[in-house]
Parts: sequence; C-alpha cells; structure tokens
Amino acid sequence: MIEISSYLYEKGLVPGKSGNISIRYKKDEFERIAVTPSGLSLKSLAEKDIVIVDMEENKIYNDSKTPTSELLMHLKIYKTRKDVNAVIHTHSPIATGFAFAGEKIERIEGFGPINNKFIPYVDYYNPGSVELAEAVSNGLEKSDVLILKEHGIVSVGKNLDEASLLSEFIEESAKTQFVKRVLMANRL
Ligand SMILES: [Zn+2]
Repeated sequence: MIEISSYLYEKGLVPGKSGNISIRYKKDEFERIAVTPSGLSLKSLAEKDIVIVDMEENKIYNDSKTPTSELLMHLKIYKTRKDVNAVIHTHSPIATGFAFAGEKIERIEGFGPINNKFIPYVDYYNPGSVELAEAVSNGLEKSDVLILKEHGIVSVGKNLDEASLLSEFIEESAKTQFVKRVLMANRL
C-alpha cells in the first residue's frame, strides 16, 4: 500500500490530500480491510498511518487514525465484488475534469483491461454517503472502473497492482482524448 501510494502520488494521480486506497485480506478466517486514513497525503503514507477495519466498519487497529471518509464505499464494493481485493479512489486531474464536464472518456485501444467502449458514469451523490457507496458498488458489477460525476474515479482489481494500472489507464485515456480534441478543434 505504501509503495502504490507513493507511486500514485508521483504520477500525479492523487495530488494534495486526495485519494484513498484499501486492500482486503484474510486473518484467521475473518475478512479485514486495510485502508488509508483521512486527512493525510498519500505522498508520505507510513505503516503507522494505515487503519485496519472489519467488514462492519469496526476499527481493529490504529487508535490514532480515522479511516478515509470514503470507507463505506470501499466496504460496499468488497461486499458486492467477491473477486475484488483492492480499491483505489482518485481525483486524478484530467479524468476528473471530464467527470466535472460530464464528458465521456473513451476507452483507448490497447490501453489495458477496460472492456466498455466508454467508461461508465455514476450520478453525483455526496462524498462519503451511503447513496454514493451503493451507486458505485452497483456500477462496479459491470465494470472495473467508474467515473463519479463531478467527483473523481474509482478502480478495482484482484490486487493493488491491477487497480493501480486501471487508475493510470483512465488518466492516460482522458489525457489522450483531451489532446486529440484540442488538436482537432484547432485544425485549419
Ligand atoms: Zn473523492
């Protein structure tokens, strides 16, 4: 988690204090979720910052930190997608620009494991709300990556590498399309 956090930060996908990530693992037959804390930049995530919770939001480890305000969304995704063991939520700037403009992001051929022609959208709900958690987990039944209208991006995977790759693909797809549109609009 520490490695992926700083990777995402270096890539510019989680600027400032934005973004949160989690993984699911098993401990003595119980499902546990390790999640990043609220109010901390992923730039310098350390072991002492990671919070462990169970599937019912009970904190198992780390009295000094509060889990990300999007914890509900992470838990709901794990409940809906049994095959998913990693969740990454970013406000990566270019893709989030598309999310605010309500513009579709097209899957670029060869840009990785995205099946839909356009990346699916979910409507706007307040960050951290049950409604958002439900809309996102429903949307992820058919896609491994989603655009949250006027908010950001969620990607999932069997492991953190997969989810991280998707976060990168979506930002690169948005970037490529942005450049394409600017160039085509200015074509004489
Ligand atoms: Zn967010």
